[in-house]
Amino acid sequence: MTTKNPFLFSCHDLPRRAGEMREYELTYDEHEPIGVPLLAIPGDGAIYLDLRIEAVEQGVLATGTVSSEAIGECTRCLEPVTFDIDETFQELYHYQVDYRQKPKAKEIDVDDEDELLEMDGDFIDLDAPIRDALILNLPVNPLCSEDCEGLCQTCGVKWADLPDDHAHAAADIRWAGLTDWKGPNS
Ligand SMILES: [Zn+2]
Ligand SMILES: [Zn+2]
Repeated sequence: MTTKNPFLFSCHDLPRRAGEMREYELTYDEHEPIGVPLLAIPGDGAIYLDLRIEAVEQGVLATGTVSSEAIGECTRCLEPVTFDIDETFQELYHYQVDYRQKPKAKEIDVDDEDELLEMDGDFIDLDAPIRDALILNLPVNPLCSEDCEGLCQTCGVKWADLPDDHAHAAADIRWAGLTDWKGPNS
């Protein structure tokens, strides 16, 4: 597996003049699998990004629309399920502060709660916003349909594939050995 971050994006073509803007349509199909345990975009699953970068006073404002398809299993019946993702993000990447100059960074008004994103030279790292856009809205318990009835606990067949009167005899094999059992003190 490659350790290279595919979501590093070079803003080399964007002049550092407030008001400048560039737009890109990007596709990533070589990345780590991204998702939750039961639902994920596989490592070769295409992630599409419509990206707009704008030069603002403090840095580069990145606005993106991320779309992809996660695949997984229904948590009730284990049938394959797919889940479409279409989410937007917006992040401000600050120009790197030259610490040899007087500390200007303090003047930047940022919410203290938020981690300040900084550019790395001409690069912005889109890994976190893309990952968040993909993961945060994935259902933790994916279902093939809202009213999926799951599997019969005894035979493991999907209820949807079983007749309405499907049932198992009371003397199921797992309990057969207990029929002669009279209790702990007999
Ligand atoms: Zn299901
Ligand atoms: Zn059954």
